[in-house]
Amino acid sequence: MIMNAIKDIVLAVTYQCNGRCRFCNIWTNQDSFSCELDDFKRLPRNIENINISGGEPFLREDLPEVIRTIKNQCPKAKIIISTNGFMPCKIKEQMQKIIKFKRDIGIAVSLDGFGKAHEELRGFPGGFSLALETIRLLKELGIKNIKIAFTLGNQNINQLKRVYQLSNELGVEFSLAAYHNSSHYFQKEDNKIVDIANLRKEIDWLIKQELKSFSLKKWARAYFAFGLFNFLKNKKRILPDYSGINSLFIDPFGNIYPSDIWNLKLGNLKKVDNWDDFSEAMNLKILSNKRPESWMICTARGAMKKHYTKVIPWILRKKFLTYERKQKLSNKNNLFSLMSFPRKRESSKY
Ligand code: SF4
Repeated sequence: MIMNAIKDIVLAVTYQCNGRCRFCNIWTNQDSFSCELDDFKRLPRNIENINISGGEPFLREDLPEVIRTIKNQCPKAKIIISTNGFMPCKIKEQMQKIIKFKRDIGIAVSLDGFGKAHEELRGFPGGFSLALETIRLLKELGIKNIKIAFTLGNQNINQLKRVYQLSNELGVEFSLAAYHNSSHYFQKEDNKIVDIANLRKEIDWLIKQELKSFSLKKWARAYFAFGLFNFLKNKKRILPDYSGINSLFIDPFGNIYPSDIWNLKLGNLKKVDNWDDFSEAMNLKILSNKRPESWMICTARGAMKKHYTKVIPWILRKKFLTYERKQKLSNKNNLFSLMSFPRKRESSKY
């Protein structure tokens, strides 16, 4: 008997969306959702991370009740809501209700560039200021776990630095993803990043920034960025994929998939009575099918925890190299200042 080991779930609660993003066709869906509150009572109880996604989750009028049901069903879960941030007032109104019973809820607001760059990618004029207004209102509500979620694509590689710096100025976290292809989720299969040389430069810069900090979370994000670059360049993950074993994607109709990338229908939430029995059947299906390559946080997080013996040495090595480079630079500067000392005295002679 296989015990259920699912720890991470991406749960799309609606396909309704007000965004018109270039790299995603979810908004073209006619049907929005069919999972009702009672269906969420079937989620596995021992989940550790749930990402409430969409579409735009805040378009669901009953979102606070959805979160309450999930919180009661999965008491250990860290819950984070992903939003495009285009409806600041509605988001504030719903979050006011949510924080009354889930104070530590997290929220990730998408921002893929500065001003027009973001708006063009997201197909939403005025969307940049709206997203910033959402962040301001969330901070006003006292929400601590706020992130800017940057989705990397061909058109916004050169926007990464500015958005990262903006996240620092706003005092919120920064998380990185790259657009992927998916027939059942994003419903887009021609996303491709081609400017690998530029990508390397930008991701190297980001890794350095994250490693400069004293935060374990940021060091882990540096490793994630390293994995993302490798995936985009070589189309291969640097760590194994446990989707379907430790993580799942569930769509707004209750359909269960190993991930938002892997279009292998495993069952439906509305029919799962026992997660151990379901895991057994799920594992058989997973083992007899070919896994597509991907590097998304929902599947990388578990792999990074499991393979910490690869992650920690990488972080230490990178940090040591940065320290060594800094030392060399400071030695060089010291040498120059020593060399310039007699010159100053010489010049004072004249
Ligand atoms: S990426 Fe998000 S905001 Fe954009 S269309 Fe897809 S679901 Fe909507």
